[in-house]
Amino acid sequence: MNAKNLNILLWIAVTFWLVMMLNSLTSSDQIEARNLSYSQFLQELSDGSVREVTIQDETIKGVRSDDSRFETYDPGDPGLVGDLLKNNVVIRAKPPETPSLFMQLVAAWLPFLLLAGIWIWFMRRGSGGGAGGIFNFGKSRARQHAEGEVRVTLRDVAGVDEAKEEVGELVDFLRNPQKFSSLGGRIPRGVLMVGPPGTGKTLIARAIAGEAKVPFFSISGSDFVEMFVGVGASRVRDLFEQAKKSAPCIIFIDEIDAVGRKRGAGIGGGHDEREQTLNQLLVEMDGFAGNEGIIVIAATNRADVLDPALLRPGRFDRQVVVGLPDLAGRAAILEVHMRKVPIADDVVARTIARGTPGFSGADLANLVNEAALFAARAGHTEVSMAMFEKAKDKIMMGAERRSIVMSESEKKLTAYHEAGHAIVGRLVPEHDPVHKISIIPRGRALGVTMFLPERDRYSMSKRQLESQISSLFGGRLAEEMIFGPEQVTTGASNDIERATDIARSMVTRFGLSDVMGPLAYAEDEGEVFLGRSVTQQRQVSPETAQAIDKEVRAIIDRNYQRSKQLLDENMNKLHTMAEALLTFETIGRDQIDDIMEGRPMREPEDDRGGSTPKAGDGNDAPHGGAARKQPPLPIGGV
Ligand code: ADP
Ligand code: MG
Ligand code: ZN
Repeated sequence: MNAKNLNILLWIAVTFWLVMMLNSLTSSDQIEARNLSYSQFLQELSDGSVREVTIQDETIKGVRSDDSRFETYDPGDPGLVGDLLKNNVVIRAKPPETPSLFMQLVAAWLPFLLLAGIWIWFMRRGSGGGAGGIFNFGKSRARQHAEGEVRVTLRDVAGVDEAKEEVGELVDFLRNPQKFSSLGGRIPRGVLMVGPPGTGKTLIARAIAGEAKVPFFSISGSDFVEMFVGVGASRVRDLFEQAKKSAPCIIFIDEIDAVGRKRGAGIGGGHDEREQTLNQLLVEMDGFAGNEGIIVIAATNRADVLDPALLRPGRFDRQVVVGLPDLAGRAAILEVHMRKVPIADDVVARTIARGTPGFSGADLANLVNEAALFAARAGHTEVSMAMFEKAKDKIMMGAERRSIVMSESEKKLTAYHEAGHAIVGRLVPEHDPVHKISIIPRGRALGVTMFLPERDRYSMSKRQLESQISSLFGGRLAEEMIFGPEQVTTGASNDIERATDIARSMVTRFGLSDVMGPLAYAEDEGEVFLGRSVTQQRQVSPETAQAIDKEVRAIIDRNYQRSKQLLDENMNKLHTMAEALLTFETIGRDQIDDIMEGRPMREPEDDRGGSTPKAGDGNDAPHGGAARKQPPLPIGGV
């Protein structure tokens, strides 16, 4: 409820209260009259101390011989008048009290007045131009940003230099178009920013709004979509009308996939409306005349679902990929966000960046924030590296849940499970190194084994994928070998799911199976929810489906066997590592190195649970149902 509504409500309440006050004042002219019980009244009557009474309805008001007043109620005594006459009391009777004329009027008209008031209020809201009025469905909901209103500048955007450059060029276009048109260049109509969530697309747009010295309209794709057919289209029309009036200007449409999906793709209701909206958008972007000087910037993380018509030249003819930041980019983004908090001297952004591959800008912003929160909680005045390490663990592996009380046997089982993952991971070829093992419950997982790659990783080899499958089975196998097949728990369900996913993808998507050959048997899962896949799914014959299943099974089986053999051969290390976990709860790379090499183990450093990562580290692969679920391949790979 906004301030205006509140105001109106307040006025209604005040008026109501005033009316009540007036009413009570007019009807109670004998405030000081003391109430008497009826039997007391009869007593006084027979004592002869009552001089006169006024009877109105059941109320008896009277005056005593000493001029004092009283008031009482008649319980319906039939002998009352007789008693009064017997005692020589003057009797006055009044007709039953009727409400004052004013009150009658109010009572009769109040409902109408209220209705009229509400109606006027809605009308004013509707026509007042404010966003969200009930009578302006068709009005665009774009917000126009005045100059200086947006504080974000391109300096706040880091690590996505190409995107910044491309988009920054646009701002140039708008500021001095003659510079470009004198060379015959045509100002582009639209720029589409594409990239995974949290990489700073919206941020870049806001920075442009902050830097551009031209009007900037921003709207989200979902703002076009409404329950009523036709609304979206008219909103688009209205938006461009507004923009034309203030050209040169920029229109920013965030999450454009909400309206820009491929036409004819949806299942279920609602897509008619979307198609109309999209058509209108296409028409406006073509715009025969008057659209010069309007640049449309749109952002999406699903460029693959956009209608091809949107992407042709003359519309969004430029695509800017805003990708996940690389090492240098992450360090730069961290530095941007570290400017906002007091940072201790021991913090090196580049070291943190090295330990956070696959993190998006939003993840990094969150990391700095979490670290600051940890520092505040610990009562520090500066955010130290240890706090960053804790924050990183929290984000990668989930928040610690020390409140969960695990029984001794559960703890032991978890220790062996995680040690199994770690040992197999260490022994299979080309596996990411183990970064940390912990049996402190986090998120939904009872324990976590975290692997981090040495460098940013953009693709994976067949060997790496198979090694990953092996290490995923290490956990469950260790449980089984130590506690027997009857004691195996459900804790490995996520491991199994992920291993199966990888194996299936190898066969059906990556063409990494000799038997099935380099064919794509599955469509990208990403689209299933929109229905295109429902209607156009690549069909495989039953025989092929069977062959796929068989091949997936073969991959799983051979890695399961490998995992089993490795654990068999290293049983003593498994015991040592599980013991170490039971003692310290969390061990790091140094400890794991010591155990694997058969040296006496160094004690883990306090609080950090192991060393900080050394050479570049990479994607988390928490085992056991842990936090960030991630596709077998980083985005942008193969
Ligand atoms: P999206 O690409 O999903 O639109 P946002 O722009 O909303 O991502 O990013 C969310 C937040 O993450 C931003 O407000 C900012 O704090 C942080 N962030 C993301 N990318 C960057 C970046 N390149 N530089 C600095 N901060 C970033
Ligand atoms: Mg966004
Ligand atoms: Zn596991």
